[in-house]
This record gives sequence, structure tokens and C-alpha cells, in this order.
Amino acid sequence: MSAINFDIAIQGGGPVGLACAAWCLQKFPEAKIVLLDRNPVDDADLAAADSRGIALSHGSKLLLDTINAWPIECADIHRVHVSQAGRFGRALMTREELGQDALGHIIRYRDIHLTLRKALRAIQTKSPNFVWKHIDAQADTLNIQAKCVVHAEGGLFKTQDWVESGRDYEQSALVGLVEVENAAPYQAWERFTSEGPLAVLPSHYGSNILNLVWCGTPSSSQARLALSDAEFLKSLQAEFGSRIGQFLKIQDRRLYELGLNYRKEITQGNEVWIGNAAQTLHPVAGQGLNLGLRDAYLLAEKLSALFSKPEDQKTPLAIETTLQDYAQSRKADRSATIGLTDFMARIFTSNLFPIVVGRGLALSALQWLPSVKTALARQMMFGRR
Ligand SMILES: Cc1cc2nc3c(=O)[nH]c(=O)nc-3n(C[C@H](O)[C@H](O)[C@H](O)COP(=O)(O)OP(=O)(O)OC[C@H]3O[C@@H](n4cnc5c(N)ncnc54)[C@H](O)[C@@H]3O)c2cc1C
Repeated sequence: MSAINFDIAIQGGGPVGLACAAWCLQKFPEAKIVLLDRNPVDDADLAAADSRGIALSHGSKLLLDTINAWPIECADIHRVHVSQAGRFGRALMTREELGQDALGHIIRYRDIHLTLRKALRAIQTKSPNFVWKHIDAQADTLNIQAKCVVHAEGGLFKTQDWVESGRDYEQSALVGLVEVENAAPYQAWERFTSEGPLAVLPSHYGSNILNLVWCGTPSSSQARLALSDAEFLKSLQAEFGSRIGQFLKIQDRRLYELGLNYRKEITQGNEVWIGNAAQTLHPVAGQGLNLGLRDAYLLAEKLSALFSKPEDQKTPLAIETTLQDYAQSRKADRSATIGLTDFMARIFTSNLFPIVVGRGLALSALQWLPSVKTALARQMMFGRR
């Protein structure tokens, strides 16, 4: 049987792979692309999947709007309150200070995933050479050849079959949905505890149902997972305090191991790595998917420009040069985002006295130096340009 030939093979049908396919096809509908997707064909089979709340920035909203992939069920953040449990230092960021409608948006992972699938299906109707192939994990005999291979296999820290550079923070995130007595609408809370950040974020279910991301050592996170609901709420209350009244209910607790894993080189010959397949970050700054979407957008821009050229110009050298050019353009944003996230993950979990004092001072300084605060918020909302 002869191989089917494509210009581009995208491996991975998570948010980043889907977005990359959609942007390539939107810019060049004739592109010969195959998307290799391990997820089921039917959306209904994904509906009960990963419900963790993901913070998407305004920059990501602008990108996803270009392909009509912005989920309807979304909660806006107008204020973020940052503090340290039991120590001095706090900062408040508001949308007014930044002149934005929102500082960010919280959306369930599965809603981002499903909305992108829907958006890609709409684009597929106008893309005669696009093939969306659903494969299972065992399918290693696909008879497909492509001039360029985009790796978007994603994955979570410790589940990835590659480890290059990075750090094991020896932390897990316990996520869930928590009901509280009295939360101010549109407000997010990030509290740094002795074991790691504890974030309480808005959800689209209403102002008193919030997304919880509670980072701690693997053993204490495991122990918290095993607690009864009542015991869990009691220990959460003790760590978070009474700013939003009583914690009343907890549902859908899940654990994720956290670490940093990133590739120093994101291209090799005709292959390129994007999203979590290129870098997997600690969620402390809510940057992983935001960064991955920026990867996908820029790569789609470069690849569609190349593959819309006449056939004789799509040489292996031209492809390699285009990918190197892409990698060069992503350098500043990648290093700034990886560096900032790694710095925050380490600095906010240390209990060394000088660091505790330093971070209290840093939070206080942030409060009183609006230009620093705005610069930091802009990096998180739009990345480095
Ligand atoms: C607790 C937690 C909270 C987070 N919070 C935030 C946040 O607030 N903001 C933010 O921006 N990011 C956040 N992230 C990070 C975010 O989840 C990831 O950056 C994002 O999911 C990466 O998307 P992706 O498409 O690259 O990878 P994935 O989401 O992992 O998707 C990859 C897809 O590829 C498929 N696949 C794997 N191997 C193959 C193969 N060989 N062939 C075909 N398909 C394959 C998988 O089945 C999967 O569907 C958080 C992460 C965690 C763990």
C-alpha cells in the first residue's frame, strides 16, 4: 500500500494541536494537513473529561476569537488578590489599573477542548485537503508521510515519555470546585502557603462556586485527597482564612503532579515541538496553555506562508529554515515565560527566612509600584513580543 503524502502532519489533538490546525487552514485552506488525534471522535465521550479550571489571558482570547473558538461558559477575573498565609505582604491587581475589560478568564479544560474541536470542524468544511484522523494509542503502523511534522502530544509532568531540562518541584496540585459563603464576584485569590500556592478562582457556575488549585507536597496533597469532605473543608479553611466566609462544599477533587520540563531545541530537521510537547510548566502563573496557543499561532503563520508557495519551493531546506526561523521568533517569549514561572514556583514555596521576608517586601513593592505591576501583568496577559 502506498503512503499518503501530506505537507504537514500534526500529532496531538489537544487544544494546541487543534488550534494550530485551525490557524493553518484558516490562513491557507488548500493546505494538505493531517491531524493525528488520539481522542474519541464523539464529543460526548469527552464531556465528562478534565474539568479543571484554566486561566486564559486576554491575549489568548484575542487569538481564539479569530477562529470563533472562545467558549461560552467562561468566568471573567476583574481583580486578583495576592497574599502570603500567616506573613506580611499583599498586592491587589485590578482591571481598571490595566485598562482592560478583564485580567483573565477561567474556563474548564474540556470546554476549551470541545470549543476548539467545533471550530476546527467548521473550518474543515472549507478545507478540501485536510484529514482529521482519529487513532488509538497502539496505532504505530500508520502509512502516512509528511514534509513537516508538528509535535503537539502535550502531556502532564511525569507522564511524558521525554525529559530534557527542568525541575521536579516535588509538588502536586489538588484541584476541585468549592462552594463558599460569600465571594465577591469576578475576584481571584492567590495565597502563598508554606507548601505552595493556593488559588481560588471564579467559575461560570456563579459567584459562590469557585475553582480551587491547592499546591502542596505530594504526600500532603495525597492525604488531602483522601480526607472526607468535611475534614477537607476544615483544613482548607484553616489555610485560606475567612476572607470569603465559610467553605461549604467540595466536589471533583483531582491531583496533578507538578514540575518543569522543557526542550532547549524545539526543532530538529523537519520536526517542531509546540505547547506542552515543547514545555510543561508549573500552573502557579497560569501560563502553560497561553504560551502553547502563542506557539501554535506563530507556527501556523510561518507554515501557511511556506506551504502556500509553489510546489518546487517547499524543499527540505526551505522547511528546515522556516522552522528555525519560528524557533528564533519564539525564543524571547518562551524564556521569559518559563523563567518567570520557574522563579515564582520556587520563590513562593521557600520557607527560608530571608526569602519569606523578601517576598513579603516584593508583594508590598508591587502594590506601591504601579509600573512594575503593570509590566508583570502585561507579560502574563500577552507574553513577550
Ligand atoms: C493543575 C493544572 C492547572 C493548569 N492551569 C493552567 C492555567 O490556569 N492556564 C494555562 O494557560 N495553563 C494551565 N495549565 C497547563 C495546560 O493544561 C497545558 O499547558 C495545556 O493543556 C497544553 O495543551 P497541549 O494541547 O499542548 O497538551 P494537552 O492538553 O496535554 O493535549 C495533548 C493531546 O495530544 C494527545 N496525544 C498524546 N500523544 C499523542 C500521539 N502520539 N498521537 C496523537 N495524539 C496524542 C493527548 O491525548 C491529548 O489530547 C495547567 C496545568 C495543570 C496540570
